[in-house]
Amino acid sequence: MGPVLPPETMSMDCVICKNGQTRRGTATVTLERNGTTVVFKAVPADICSNCGEQYLDETTTQRLLSQAESAAQGGVELEIRPYAA
Ligand SMILES: [Zn+2]
Repeated sequence: MGPVLPPETMSMDCVICKNGQTRRGTATVTLERNGTTVVFKAVPADICSNCGEQYLDETTTQRLLSQAESAAQGGVELEIRPYAA
């Protein structure tokens, strides 16, 4: 996962490549919790048009973490789920 940004961030310069500008889009994010790998699809993110770095806001990050936590409690090794806002 990329750096955490405050919510409602508008387009900004990418801090990774310092060349691109971020654009609102969706990303696929992979998290690991207690041996469970969770792949989230269609996660709202700001994505650099140049290098493809994904920036998630803090609210989204918190939701992903708690959803990964509940997936881990199911004890599966790999789970692929759509991001639930
Ligand atoms: Zn970039």
